[in-house]
Amino acid sequence: MEAILKSNKLLNICYEIRGPIPERARQMEEEGHRIIKLNIGNLANFGFDAPEEVVQDVIRNLANAAGYVDSKGLFQARKAIMHYTQQKNIADVTVDDIYIGNGASELIVMSMQGLLNTGDEVLVPMPDYPLWTAAVSLAGGTPRHYLCDEADGWMPSLSDMRAKITPKTRAIVVINPNNPTGALYPDSVLLDIIALAREFGLIIYADEIYDKVLYDGVSHTSIASLADDVLFVTFNGLSKNYRACGYRSGWMIVSGEKHRAKDYIEGLNMLATMRLCANVPSQYAIQTALGGYQSIDDLVCEGGRLAKQRDLAYNMLSAMPGVSVVKPQAALYMFPKLDPVIYPVSDDQQFMLELLQDEKVLLVQGTGFNWPQHDHFRVVFLPNLDDLTDALNRVARFLTQWRKR
Ligand code: PLP
Repeated sequence: MEAILKSNKLLNICYEIRGPIPERARQMEEEGHRIIKLNIGNLANFGFDAPEEVVQDVIRNLANAAGYVDSKGLFQARKAIMHYTQQKNIADVTVDDIYIGNGASELIVMSMQGLLNTGDEVLVPMPDYPLWTAAVSLAGGTPRHYLCDEADGWMPSLSDMRAKITPKTRAIVVINPNNPTGALYPDSVLLDIIALAREFGLIIYADEIYDKVLYDGVSHTSIASLADDVLFVTFNGLSKNYRACGYRSGWMIVSGEKHRAKDYIEGLNMLATMRLCANVPSQYAIQTALGGYQSIDDLVCEGGRLAKQRDLAYNMLSAMPGVSVVKPQAALYMFPKLDPVIYPVSDDQQFMLELLQDEKVLLVQGTGFNWPQHDHFRVVFLPNLDDLTDALNRVARFLTQWRKR
């Protein structure tokens, strides 16, 4: 009998964060090894608890949450998100412009399914959070990767973005704060991106899921707050800012040039209704989370747990021979570079597999973030200081051994 094959739609799709190397790590754990996992931004696994009041609200409302609700989500949750858009100065957002989903992930996929015809192009950052590249491809589109420039603190290169625009380009994806680089974009960069979108009639998809995970007292601007004559779709959720990845509660906000997008919005509404609604119990968490009492500030302020772990990871990585890293101002990640003269790595997936096997540390290789060279990897700095120190000492030892080969 013929083998049962997956759909051709999946041929160009990859998501290495949960790919073959994490699968190997899982097998090694079953064999009895203890693996230190620096591969995934899952806060709950590292002792970061969701705010108690948020958890209690979900429990308290569980009995009322057994029915389907509006496909766009619970009214009071969307109202709270609407107030949040007002705090972020995004103009003219109504409850109707807000869609709640099973994490931002579901809505990212939905937003691309609703937009793209075969061959349409979307500008996606390089490196990227790989779901974006996958979502564009799955929807039949072609991701065109624009450079985020390490020499410029990982800022998007406007000239590269412009060079990659063709008559088929429909949209620009902006991940700010950025995963995997931890970069935070200043308003001047955001305004330049808007100018480009305006010139070519492109939609801006703004993934702002880390907009409260900010270090050194910096502040975040929502790109959608800077113009009303471009269509923006902004993504956020409870996963990171409120340490509730497992609740699968995210949202998407359509703003700006909505009048030009009536047909697209109709498509989004159709896709939202097709899956009936997002998981209801966790929608009850949204109003309390956004209500003002919950805060991540004590974790990210100077001396806070996340800030200390960021500093430790940055200092240890910077001290490794042949390793350089841009200090992140936001999010949970950094994206160090291996000097290609000292570490002429030809296959970074194999490199990470060897690290896992030799030192029991799980990282994700740079190419997993659609980075074209085999000279980067991503570090998640969520483990506590002891585990992080242990993990990075192991990385240093592996690199020393690798150089001697
Ligand atoms: N966007 C970025 C940049 C992310 O890093 C993640 C998760 O790591 C997501 C979106 C997905 O978030 P959610 O848990 O809301 O699906």
